[in-house]
Amino acid sequence: MSEAANERSGVLMSIRGVTKAFGSNVVLKGINMDVKKGEVIALIGGNGAGKSTLMKIIMGIYDLDEGEIFMAGQPVKLGKPSASLAQGIYLVPQEPMLFPNMTVLENVLMGFHENEAELKKRLQKHMEELGFTLNLQRKASTLSIAEQQLVEILRGMMREARLLILDEPTSALTFSEVQSLFKVVEDLKRKGISMIYITHRLTEVFEIATDVAIMRDGLITLSGPVQNFTKEMLIQGLLPTDVEVSQSGHRAYQPVDYENTKPVLQVRNFSGYGFSDISFDLYPGEILGVAGVV
Ligand code: ADP
Ligand code: MG
Repeated sequence: MSEAANERSGVLMSIRGVTKAFGSNVVLKGINMDVKKGEVIALIGGNGAGKSTLMKIIMGIYDLDEGEIFMAGQPVKLGKPSASLAQGIYLVPQEPMLFPNMTVLENVLMGFHENEAELKKRLQKHMEELGFTLNLQRKASTLSIAEQQLVEILRGMMREARLLILDEPTSALTFSEVQSLFKVVEDLKRKGISMIYITHRLTEVFEIATDVAIMRDGLITLSGPVQNFTKEMLIQGLLPTDVEVSQSGHRAYQPVDYENTKPVLQVRNFSGYGFSDISFDLYPGEILGVAGVV
C-alpha cells in the first residue's frame, strides 16, 4: 500500500525497513510496523529482542541507520526528542520522573507558556474525559506510582499526543490500580489515541490490546489483530527459538519423584512483618514461583 493509501485507511505511524546497529551488533534488522489510530499494539519479545531500541528510535533518542518513518502518510525525520514530541509521540515511563517538590499542576504545565487559566481548563477537560480526578495542588512526592503515571498521561494529552508508548506500566501497580489504568487506556483508545504497550504479562495482552507484534532478534516475526493469537503463540514469542512449548503452554516439565527425593528447603509456619503462616517445600530442580500483588 502507498503511504497516502495508508493514511486514508487510518494508519498513524508506519515504520519501514528500519535498521539500527551498535558497532558490529545489528540490533534492528529491518522493522516494518503500522500503528493505526486508536490501536493498542502489544509489543512482545524476550530480553534483547530490540524493543527498547525501537522505542528509543520512535522517541527520537536514537537515530535510525536505514529505513523510514511516516506519520499520517508523511515521511518524518525523528532522531531527536523534540522532533518526536512535535509529532505527538509521548512516552509514559515505567517509573515516571516528576519533580517531587512541585505540584501536579506545575509538573503537567512545565514548559507551557500560555495563559495558566486556559491551560488549567484544558487539563480539567482531559481529566474529565479520562474519568479521573487528581488534586492539582498535591506535591508530586505524595503521589503513588499509579498516580504519577496518570500525571504523565496528562502531560502527554496536554501536548496533543497521538501516540503513547507505555513501557511495562503495570509492573509496579496493585491490582485495582491496574484496573484503573486499563480504564484510562480504554478511554484513550476511544479518543483515537494510538498506543504501543510493552508488557511481559500475557493476560494483559488479551485484556487491552487490539493488536500484537512479536519481536525476536531484531525483527517483527509475527503481527496482527489480537484475535489471531493464542497464549501459546505469545509464550513462544517470548522464548528463545530452540525451546518447545507444550500443550499447556508450559515448558516440558520433568516431574519430581517426591517419594524418593528430599527437599533442599523446607519452610514451616513462617510469620513476621507482612506475612503469616507460610509453609513450602523446595525440591532439587524445581523452580518455585512466588506470585502476588504489590
Ligand atoms: P529489549 O528491550 O527487547 O530487551 P534492547 O533494545 O534493549 O532489547 O536490546 C537489544 C540489543 O541491543 C541487545 O543485544 C543490547 O545489548 C543491545 N543494545 C541496546 N542498547 C545498546 C547501546 N546503547 N549500545 C550497545 N548495544 C546496545
Ligand atoms: Mg527493553
